[in-house]
Amino acid sequence: MKQELVQKTLGAGLYEYGHHACPLAQKWEPFLTGGVQAEKLLVAYDNADYTFASLPLFTEEKALLLKGLGILREAFSVERVEIYLPESAPEEVKTAWAGEPGLPVVYGKVDVREVGSKDLLHHPETVANIARVQAGQEPMLYAQVAQDEQEKTLCLPLESTVGKFVKAAGFAIAEGAVVAGGYFGRMLAPGQLNQPLYGLSNCRIELYPGSFCAVSFAQKASAHAAAESCGRCTFCREGNYQISRFLKSAVTGRGAEEDTAWLRSLSEAVGEESVCSFGQESVRFLRDALVSESKSFDAHIKGKRCDAGVCQAFTDYAVDGSLCVGCDKCRQACRYGAIEDGPGFIHRIDVFDCAKCGECAAVCPEKAIYRVRVGRLIGPTKATKVGRFRTSRKQY
Ligand code: SF4
Ligand code: SF4
Ligand code: SF4
Repeated sequence: MKQELVQKTLGAGLYEYGHHACPLAQKWEPFLTGGVQAEKLLVAYDNADYTFASLPLFTEEKALLLKGLGILREAFSVERVEIYLPESAPEEVKTAWAGEPGLPVVYGKVDVREVGSKDLLHHPETVANIARVQAGQEPMLYAQVAQDEQEKTLCLPLESTVGKFVKAAGFAIAEGAVVAGGYFGRMLAPGQLNQPLYGLSNCRIELYPGSFCAVSFAQKASAHAAAESCGRCTFCREGNYQISRFLKSAVTGRGAEEDTAWLRSLSEAVGEESVCSFGQESVRFLRDALVSESKSFDAHIKGKRCDAGVCQAFTDYAVDGSLCVGCDKCRQACRYGAIEDGPGFIHRIDVFDCAKCGECAAVCPEKAIYRVRVGRLIGPTKATKVGRFRTSRKQY
């Protein structure tokens, strides 16, 4: 073992990146002081990572990754190396690594049961940072920042906070919610962005500047987990399927009072009994939200309402009668014939014909169409000329 290589890396205080973040000194302890000779070096994303924010490492910074691999091989005198890449990796990544001598590439997830105590398993970000540190450079971190349809990938110094990534991406958020880690992440309030992104699950930051419903987000996360589980562990496979069914009931107004207790025990079991980071992290958001957003779960399951106005089952589209100028654009855009009255009249939506597609709200130049709580009126009940209806503007 090349002590100088190891000591220079440890001296920089580097952490293993990803869902199982820990100091490299801790991760390497069996090899450094326990007398274990490393047999294989595996480079792979966490199984729970579905964003692969740092894939540019495999193309734009391939030389850096190769250097990091060389350092690890030399430092731990390890001959065998395997690189795991996502099946969804772009062609340019696959082409860049095809036929690289001595570096076989496997496409897919690592089967953690096959990883032995003599195997060194590192995230690509960690390998790149080992190379940076040896070259006297600052460790870096890739992250995706997404809002609505926009998504940006950035690479900033490792210790950068969530807020710094958001700002560097050109976004800003004053109210709403931020989810650090995507489906397997944590919900933060806009005032909590002053913490390092590093270690907060995978590096995807999602911004929800308007309304955010934790129950709806948890439902999408569980549906993703149920669809993407490899199926080897019963709790991950069946548990996530059952969780997604309970949550689907909650967001569609069919939840039963005992469902919250089921969600608690199922999410605990999935988190504790799954063998890899995918199953363990798949319930992270739900477990946190069941505590921090318990009122929202009660509102959906017991109260049959979504206070954020996000879940379609509990909302209708409606025209604010005080804002409508009768331009008729919404009626022309509606494919379901659900909008009444013509030019010059305040338009009204027939909730029985409305398919809740949102097209009308998207085309309204006055931003007069909102989602409102089922049954709430914000416009006239009969044909009314523009300007003849006054009310305070209420979104929900
Ligand atoms: S936890 Fe889920 S993804 Fe991981 S091995 Fe088990 S079934 Fe597969
Ligand atoms: S939400 Fe869709 S279906 Fe409903 S009124 Fe608007 S355009 Fe028509
Ligand atoms: S598009 Fe907007 S302003 Fe125009 S008629 Fe419809 S609700 Fe009124």
